[in-house]
Amino acid sequence: SEGRKPYSEMSNEELEALERKLKAEYKKIQGLGLELNMSRGKPCVEQLDLSMGMMDVLSSDSDLRCEDGTDCRNYGVLTGIPEALELMGDMMEVPYDHLIIYGNSSLNVMYDQISRSYSHGVMGNTPWCKLDKVKFLCVVPGYDRHFRITEYFGIENVCVPMLETGPDMDMVEELVSSDESIKGIWCVPKYSNPTGNSYSDETVRRFARLKPAAKDFRIYWDNAYTIHHLYDHDQDHLIEILAECKRAGNPDLVYKFASTSKVCFPGSGIAAMATSLNNLEDVKQQLKVQTIGHDKVNQLRHVRFFKDIHGMVEHMRKHADILRPKFEMVEKICEEELGGLGIAKWTNPKGGYFISFDTMDGCAKEVVRKCAKAGVVLTPAGATYPGGVDPHDANIRIAPSFPPLNDLKTATELLCLATKYVACTKILE
Ligand code: PLP
Repeated sequence: SEGRKPYSEMSNEELEALERKLKAEYKKIQGLGLELNMSRGKPCVEQLDLSMGMMDVLSSDSDLRCEDGTDCRNYGVLTGIPEALELMGDMMEVPYDHLIIYGNSSLNVMYDQISRSYSHGVMGNTPWCKLDKVKFLCVVPGYDRHFRITEYFGIENVCVPMLETGPDMDMVEELVSSDESIKGIWCVPKYSNPTGNSYSDETVRRFARLKPAAKDFRIYWDNAYTIHHLYDHDQDHLIEILAECKRAGNPDLVYKFASTSKVCFPGSGIAAMATSLNNLEDVKQQLKVQTIGHDKVNQLRHVRFFKDIHGMVEHMRKHADILRPKFEMVEKICEEELGGLGIAKWTNPKGGYFISFDTMDGCAKEVVRKCAKAGVVLTPAGATYPGGVDPHDANIRIAPSFPPLNDLKTATELLCLATKYVACTKILE
């Protein structure tokens, strides 16, 4: 059918006729007065409802002492109560004594890591603020809030492309081993934000065997989507990076982060960082100045609600049941509307919160603008690149979790229509 013919094989007359048709369709949708938002990866109301039991596990007659007898109502315990360390350790696949439980946000923990390295240095190395040049590698497309942290400290963000197998490791190895000003790399190794794919075993092994020129180089391994599978029988599994770094003789190379934000209540969860004992000691020197301890009542609430990692995994299945139809619907509409046209690509993730969508080069901004003018807010084009600048102007991050199915259907149809319309115009230019 005409619809399946790649745009590159169409004559100018065909494209002009198609553009007129698409324009008319677009005008019609514009008249509907839509008000939809697909911009950020937030859980939907039904997902939040799954965790309401968390409000019932503690009450005024609860015993708020934790396992070791500590009264969680009072000050103390710098690195987390034992049962929370065990739960988060299991979630993060690390021994309980290799992590610190923090407050409500892992992004905050990452910010603190950068901030401390900047002001006081990593393990006795020169503080970054005293260096002429500090650079950080950013896997792109990636998570905008990571890039903003390093940008905020005046650190130069250097892009490394994300491939099917993870970051381009030839490039990472080359840069990290030759440039002492490169102090770290932002990674989302599992169900990556936004591509949804996971690093291969070889990629993880190569990470653990990096030979950085800078002694204070660290991998920022943000495992935000570690248990966030969409399918029961088709899941990504990564080699555990801390253990792999140890095996490779590089025990201090990595900081690993996670939180329960997208397990229960985003912004009211618990966050943790796992790393080597040497790194933990370094961090604790600062942490004990920064705080007397984080929110133990919330830690206790989490443990009493989930009980253990099995409870958490079971809970994530319920999330998956809500999210799966949304992801599958977006993918199906994209396939039906855009498959074979040669004007767009998108990912089909098995977990996480995002689908990465690529228009033809030079079209993403205009597609996002057209969607906005028809009442559908998408993540700004370019947001997945440092400084908000996508050199190809092609990548759009789709966040299917929040809108109800019907709204998501309308929004995706509009995205596809805008993609076709803008592609037509672009080719005819
Ligand atoms: N890391 C990644 C990769 C994310 O996608 C997000 C949220 O979207 C976060 C961290 C934020 O986590 P938190 O709520 O623990 O700060």
